[in-house]
Amino acid sequence: MNCCKRLFDVIIVAGGKSERAGCDKLDAVIDGRQTVLQKAVNAFADLQGINSVIIGLPEGKALPSFSDRVEIKRAPSGDTRYLTVKNCLALCTAPYVMIHDGARPYLGRKLLEKLMDETAEKGSAVPCLPLTDTIITSEFVPADRKAFLAVQTPQCFKTEQIIKAYSAYRGEATDDATVYYKYAQNVNYVPGETSNRKITYPEDLIPRTGIGYDIHRLETGRRLVLCGVEIPFEKGLAGHSDADCAVHAVMDAALSAAGLRDIGFYFSDTDDSYKNADSVLLLSRVCDILKERGLKIAQASISIIAEKPKLAVYMDKMINKLSDTLNIEPGHIGISATTNEQTGLIGKGEAIAAWAAVTLVNA
Ligand code: MG
Repeated sequence: MNCCKRLFDVIIVAGGKSERAGCDKLDAVIDGRQTVLQKAVNAFADLQGINSVIIGLPEGKALPSFSDRVEIKRAPSGDTRYLTVKNCLALCTAPYVMIHDGARPYLGRKLLEKLMDETAEKGSAVPCLPLTDTIITSEFVPADRKAFLAVQTPQCFKTEQIIKAYSAYRGEATDDATVYYKYAQNVNYVPGETSNRKITYPEDLIPRTGIGYDIHRLETGRRLVLCGVEIPFEKGLAGHSDADCAVHAVMDAALSAAGLRDIGFYFSDTDDSYKNADSVLLLSRVCDILKERGLKIAQASISIIAEKPKLAVYMDKMINKLSDTLNIEPGHIGISATTNEQTGLIGKGEAIAAWAAVTLVNA
């Protein structure tokens, strides 16, 4: 199909209050680099037939950066979704328009192209899915779920027609198909995609998990520090910093969970400022790096592998130290210790290693 015949403006509705999410869900980082809103907008980059993307968001709210392969315009959001869409429609110049929720970041290319083709052919295209849950009324009367559809976005129309529909509509509407149906008495429903889900609740933001590992040799004349706690022992771990392998494993796990580079990238062992550094302070720096990306550590699980010394009596102290550093409940930190059954470097008492698994959530 000729792409000029199917030229679309895209409206991104981003004026919601995120009351059910309990945080600004559109600013939540979902893949280490992009927020929900950035990912929702960037889905339209590199797609043939896109004229511009018009984002309806509150005045004064900063616009994040988007792909430079799409022209971005902004429109002030209104008090309701209906008013936000109306403001955005006023900026449309292409013959067709797609109206998409900023809280749906997982829009697939196949669905998009299908919707564009169907709109050019039939005048509208609205993605819908059959319901899977049992449906009952508020009086507990079972309803026939086959009679209902769950409506997704983007909802696509001829621009002129949806503008007329919005002008004629009275009252509120939580989606555009409702407005269009009242005007045109007809909507072309297209099968949606289950992956095209909407971020509504905090649990819709998938937690991110990473693992980390570190090992340092034991040497005489060094302090032994594990999880930020100094442990009396005849040897200590050798390294550029205090060589706290347990904390280093947590740092790598956290950076990995965020999709970032590893500990060596941020804290080079050739940098004199990190000589004998307290690794707990470096872990705090990692927390700052995560915070800049809208993430925080929710849980950490650490396994320390040491032939000697016995660590059981230091566990509470280590958990409390990490709890203070990470600002999370002690119950969200698990530390176990094991030996290496006298095998290898660790088993011969020449090194101590640690594994860590860390879960991040949106800050
Ligand atoms: Mg290390």
